[in-house]
Amino acid sequence: MSWKDNIIKQLGRLNPRLLASVEKGMRAIPGVSQMIEGEYAEIMVELESSAKPYKNKFTSFTQIPDTGRSHTDILRDMEAMRAQEESHWKEGFVSGAVYHGDQEHIDFLNQVYAINSQSNPLHADVWPSATKFEAEIVAMTGNMLGGAGRDVCGTLSSGGTESIMLAMKTYRDWAREKKGITKPEMIAPITAHAAFDKASQYFNIKTIHIPVDENFRADVNAAKKAITANTIAIVGSAPSFPHGAIDPIEELSEFARQHNIGFHVDACLGGFVLPWAEKLGYPVPPFDFRLPGVTSMSADTHKYGYAAKGTSVILYRGEELRHFQYYTSTEWPGGLYFSPTFAGSRPGALSAACWAALTAIGAEGYLTATKKILETAAVIKNGIREIPELRVLGDPLFVVAFDSESLNIYKVLDYMSHKKWSLNGLHKPTCVHLCVTLRHTQPGVAERFLADLREAVEHVKQYPEEKGTMAPVYGMAATLPLRGMVSDLLKKYLDLIFKA
Ligand SMILES: *Cc1c(COP(=O)(O)O)cnc(C)c1O
Repeated sequence: MSWKDNIIKQLGRLNPRLLASVEKGMRAIPGVSQMIEGEYAEIMVELESSAKPYKNKFTSFTQIPDTGRSHTDILRDMEAMRAQEESHWKEGFVSGAVYHGDQEHIDFLNQVYAINSQSNPLHADVWPSATKFEAEIVAMTGNMLGGAGRDVCGTLSSGGTESIMLAMKTYRDWAREKKGITKPEMIAPITAHAAFDKASQYFNIKTIHIPVDENFRADVNAAKKAITANTIAIVGSAPSFPHGAIDPIEELSEFARQHNIGFHVDACLGGFVLPWAEKLGYPVPPFDFRLPGVTSMSADTHKYGYAAKGTSVILYRGEELRHFQYYTSTEWPGGLYFSPTFAGSRPGALSAACWAALTAIGAEGYLTATKKILETAAVIKNGIREIPELRVLGDPLFVVAFDSESLNIYKVLDYMSHKKWSLNGLHKPTCVHLCVTLRHTQPGVAERFLADLREAVEHVKQYPEEKGTMAPVYGMAATLPLRGMVSDLLKKYLDLIFKA
C-alpha cells in the first residue's frame, strides 16, 4: 500500500464531522494547499482533452464576431458535430439520456418546435395555445397517475430537478404557514435523487437521510424514527435512479398521512413506465395518487414521456398545496407579475412538443414501448445474472445495476467505455447501471451489450492489475474520505466545462 492509500485508509476511520475539520485544518497549511492545487491542475489537464474534443477542429469564439457568420457555415459545423456524436446514442450505446430517438419521432417533434418556436407561456394572452398545451399535459399526466376523479393538479416545469425543487419549496412554505415550522426537515432515502439535496441546500431544509434495505428500498422503520415536530415531508422514489428500486410507497404514504406531513413520490423516471407496466401485468406495487397519503409527484415527460428535453410535470393533491408553489408580485413597477415555476419566460415550443408527443404516441404507443423496454431489460438482467462474476442489485424492472464481489467493477466499466458504451458508474455501494430505453430495444443491441460485458469481465479477470483510464479516478472519488477535495474537483470540472 502506498503512503497516500494508507493515509486515505486511516482518515476513512474518522467520523465525518471530525474529518471535515481535519481537512479544513490541513488545507490551511500553505504547503498542503499548494500541493493539492498542483494535483488538481494535473487532473484537469488530463480531463480537458476529453471534455473539449473540438478545440482545434472548429472555429471558436470568445467575442461576438464583427460580421455575422453565414448560415451555411454555422449549419455545416453543427452537422459535422452531430455526425461525430449521433451514432453513439442512436445505436444504443448510452444508458438513459435519449429515451425514444427514432428518426421519425425526432423529425415530428422538430416540426412541432418550428411551428411554435416564438411561443412563451408567460404571455398567456399572446399564446393561448401554450396554456392549452400545458394544462392538458398536466391533466393527462395526472389522470395517468391515479388522479382521475381525485383533486389532482400541477404545473409544467423544465425537468425533474425543477419539479422536485418546486415540491420541496412548496412543502417548506406550506409548513411555515400551516404549522409554523421555521426549521424545516425532510426525510429522504439515501437513494433519492440528488435534486432533493439540492433543494435542501437552496431552500434551507435539513435532510434526514434514511438507509435502504438489501433490495435498495427505503427502510420504513428508519423513516418512522426520523420524524420530528419539524418534519415537513417524506420522499420516496418509484423507482430510484441508482438501482431502479421502488420504495415501499404504500407504507410511507400511510405513515405520512397519519402524521399530516407531505409525501412526495419521485416518479421522474418511472412515471411514464409504471402505469403501462401495471397494465401489461408486471408486478407494480401501488405508487401514485390512488394512495391517499401521496400529496405530490414528479414525472418526467422528457424521459419516458418521449418529449424533447426540457419538460417535466409536478403534480399536487389539491389546489391549496399548489398555491404554495406560485410566485406573485403586486408591487413591482413592471406591473402585476406572477409565475408558476422558477423561470419567468419559458419555451412554449417545448410545451407544444411535449403535448404533441403525448397525443401522437397515445396509450397504445406507450404500452408497446413499455413492453419492448421491459422485455429488453429482462434479457439484459438475466444475461448479467448468468455471468458468475457479476451480481444484479435487487430485482429491477428497467434500470439494471450490477456489481462484482471478485472484480473491480470500475475496471469493467472502463473496458465497456473502450467498447463505446456510456454506462453510469455509481458508488455507495460501488456498482454500474444501464437504464434501458427504446434505443436498446433495437435488434441485436441487448445481445451486443451482453457479449461486450462478458468480454469485459474476462479481460478484467485476466489482467486484474491493469490500471485502466477512468477506473482510478472513479475509485478515488468513491473512496477518498476527504469529500471537500472531491467537491472541489467537481467544481473545477464545471469551470473546465465553461472554459471557451
Ligand atoms: C432523472 C431523474 C431526476 C432528475 O431529473 P432531471 O430531468 O435530470 O432534472 C429525478 N429523479 C429521478 C428518479 C430521476 O431519474
